[in-house]
Amino acid sequence: MTEKVVIITGGSRGIGRATALAAAARGFRVVVGYASNEAAAKQVVGAIEAKNGKAIAVKCDVAEESDILALFKAADAFGALGALVNNAGIVGPSMRVEDMSFERIQRMMAVNVIGSLLCAREAVKRMSTRNGGQGGVIVNLSSVAAKLGSPNTYVDYAASKGAIDSFTIGLGHEVADEGIRVAAIRPGLIDTDIHASGGEPDRAHRLAGNVPMKRVGTAEEIANAIVWLMSDDASYVTSAILDVSGGR
Ligand code: NAP
Repeated sequence: MTEKVVIITGGSRGIGRATALAAAARGFRVVVGYASNEAAAKQVVGAIEAKNGKAIAVKCDVAEESDILALFKAADAFGALGALVNNAGIVGPSMRVEDMSFERIQRMMAVNVIGSLLCAREAVKRMSTRNGGQGGVIVNLSSVAAKLGSPNTYVDYAASKGAIDSFTIGLGHEVADEGIRVAAIRPGLIDTDIHASGGEPDRAHRLAGNVPMKRVGTAEEIANAIVWLMSDDASYVTSAILDVSGGR
């Protein structure tokens, strides 16, 4: 158990929501970031408080640096930062690269890549022993798309997650002797709203037959791996990328 604060970007729904609940159950004070769905974020806070946990909801579009600074400021007032989960992420409608607009690709990189880097920057400033901090953990959400490349679907998304993999390895090495561990999870097909947001609500179930385990995963199965990485049970794990994908 810990009294440390964890910031979870995109903590209002899906994998972020499941992670918020799992982290609270392990004693973390949870900062639930959300982009626009305030009701969903407040529901997560309410569910945590109903079990005597501590949580706050903070609006933060990770594509906006000013929102990120405000998110960390709110977290500072809530307690000492012990972990960051860079979970916020988007997909776009399925299409070939030649049909992608500049705006689509720019938004993909702004949310999935730049947002994660800026959040990690703020976390390192606070957690690094080099800066007087007490150490901590950063968990990044990558995807098996980083390995598969997602042709004819969303190569831009896959490339954004490839960037997350490199970022995880590099930042992990950079802060390894400053008390901070950095790791990534590569989820496979997980049953969340993200597929509907890409225009294909049944995508995960449609492709489940391609998964060696022949089923989609749950948000809780990803959350369990994230909170393990956040725990001292993973004390020698850094710059590591863990596939949680049923073998995909
Ligand atoms: P989801 O169900 O679509 O939920 C997305 C969450 O991120 C929501 O809380 C949403 O907030 C938030 N969000 C969206 N855009 C944001 C922005 N610009 N700034 C801040 N927050 C934002 O997604 P998910 O399936 O749980 O995915 C979570 C992470 O896992 C993503 O990084 C995704 O790429 C990765 N992943 C998912 C799968 C999968 O199959 N589901 C597979 C591989 C990797 P609001 O509620 O306010 O909209």
